[in-house]
Amino acid sequence: MPTYDYQCEKCEKVFEIFQSMNDKKLTKCPNNSCGGKVQRLLGVGAGVIFKGSGFYETDYRSESYKAGAKADKKKSSDKKKKSKNKKSTKKSD
Ligand SMILES: [Zn+2]
Repeated sequence: MPTYDYQCEKCEKVFEIFQSMNDKKLTKCPNNSCGGKVQRLLGVGAGVIFKGSGFYETDYRSESYKAGAKADKKKSSDKKKKSKNKKSTKKSD
């Protein structure tokens, strides 16, 4: 049976509910003293994690990607130079 994660809009508590595809969607907080509206979360806890660190992670990733592309460019040009030097060294030997 699949597990669905719901989060209450009122108390912000996340509930893990076991239910089949045919079961009714949970709409109310299982906490009787709350009774707030609940929303189904897509993916297990992904929304919560994304909210907290998504911005920094994206920033870091794009920065490292840029650095990686730069290093790659440098590497390939270095390789070209190196192989040229190697050839000439071999010839003189
Ligand atoms: Zn609630």
